[in-house]
Amino acid sequence: MNPKCDKCSEDSIIYQSYSGLHLCKKHFIESVESKVMKYIRKHIDIGNEEKLCVALSGGKDSCVLLYLIDKIFGEWPNLDIISITIDEGIENYRDEAIEYSKSLCEFLDIKQYIYSFKEEIGYSLDEISDVVGKERTCRYCGILRRWLLNKKTKKKNVDKLAVGHNLDDESQSALMNFLSGENFRLNRVAAGPSKKDGFIPRIKPLREVPEKEIGLYAKVKEEVSSHFDECPYSDWALRGDVRDMLNWYEEKHPGTKYSVLRGVDRISKNLTKEENAKLQKCLRCGEPTNNQKCQACKLIENLN
Ligand SMILES: [Zn+2]
Ligand SMILES: [Zn+2]
Repeated sequence: MNPKCDKCSEDSIIYQSYSGLHLCKKHFIESVESKVMKYIRKHIDIGNEEKLCVALSGGKDSCVLLYLIDKIFGEWPNLDIISITIDEGIENYRDEAIEYSKSLCEFLDIKQYIYSFKEEIGYSLDEISDVVGKERTCRYCGILRRWLLNKKTKKKNVDKLAVGHNLDDESQSALMNFLSGENFRLNRVAAGPSKKDGFIPRIKPLREVPEKEIGLYAKVKEEVSSHFDECPYSDWALRGDVRDMLNWYEEKHPGTKYSVLRGVDRISKNLTKEENAKLQKCLRCGEPTNNQKCQACKLIENLN
């Protein structure tokens, strides 16, 4: 038998070890939505006339994100919400997720644009993986996806790009930056919209929600059907090891993932200034970079 909810007399569906609460379906949904609302109020300033784009993969995180953005902002008269889906080209994985993304956009009546690696770069991710090896595929994919999203949203005059990164993603990225000696990139996991010249400001409304809770939210909200499989390339990356390590810590010491992010927030402001000072335009594509050519262009040239 399940324990009772700590806020009412219903059966609980989840135990939040970091808060010490058992929650029923209704109070769990409230808890997720209030975390997102609180985060948006505190860190994101959205104006009435803005164009907001959601990066929608069709996985559970981005589907929940689009659903919540529509729920929170859908009624604003002059706010334009669109979504962009990147088809990286991963056989037996991506097609199903894209179908989910399409039906959610239809259901919410949101305009969706789909771009593929194959058409935009010349190679699908599977083809890239054959060349660079499975261990490096995840990293290539991240760089190319970020680059493409920035180019496309700039063309569409988007004011802010919302991405579905959750508490687990963000605390993993923070640790990975340290482990790979790239701690100057920590500002990428900071709270609030990213402020870098030439980049569309990114917002992460799900940053304070644990991955497990997003999965559960997607399951209990029947409107949000989404894709649950892990990307076949993710296990090969450093991220997989960092994920296992952080989950182990979180189990022994609940709240660890939150403390990692609190630490990042304390030091991130100075890092942004430092990185902005070095930005210039990529010689090949014109996107902002710290070097003569941006990382995406270097990768594409290597592939060619
Ligand atoms: Zn309850
Ligand atoms: Zn470039």
